[in-house]
Amino acid sequence: MLAPTHILAGVIFTKLFNWRQYLPVAFFLTATLGIFSHALLDKLAVVTYCPAYPDFANLFWLAYHLLMVLISIIFLYLWWGEAKWGILFALLPDIDWLFIYPRQWLHLSGPFYDQPYIHQALDWMMNHTIPFCYLNSLPDNRSEPLAALWEFAGMLLLLLLIYRLDKRRRNIYF
Ligand SMILES: [Zn+2]
Repeated sequence: MLAPTHILAGVIFTKLFNWRQYLPVAFFLTATLGIFSHALLDKLAVVTYCPAYPDFANLFWLAYHLLMVLISIIFLYLWWGEAKWGILFALLPDIDWLFIYPRQWLHLSGPFYDQPYIHQALDWMMNHTIPFCYLNSLPDNRSEPLAALWEFAGMLLLLLLIYRLDKRRRNIYF
């Protein structure tokens, strides 16, 4: 899925494992679950609008992705201070695209980082683990603009979870 959804997942794990007494364990759980959430969300991404290649000539693609950049900036503004490590781990596998897309845009060829290696490794793991391997039978809506609604539904669900976690915390302390 796209950056805003991954950011929200990182925020959730940071809030879930906000244990001051067991800091190394909390950090380890936030990091591993953050990376795992990326793999899971990317597996679910087939049902959302997510064309395989950037299409700057397509007005809908452009507007949708600009909106996602804007939402990402808002989410980072809201939660970076509190949840930067969770967010970083939840976004970490997308390092792949920092290598792949500039290569494509500059029409560079060569063996260095010519595949999204982290995504391939995570996908391999998911494909060999029950029940996640069954996600391969999800419908493929990646080129269907209306399927963008699934991305928004996912974000809404995660925002609700964050709201619940904040409420729980307030109830504990006050
Ligand atoms: Zn990804």
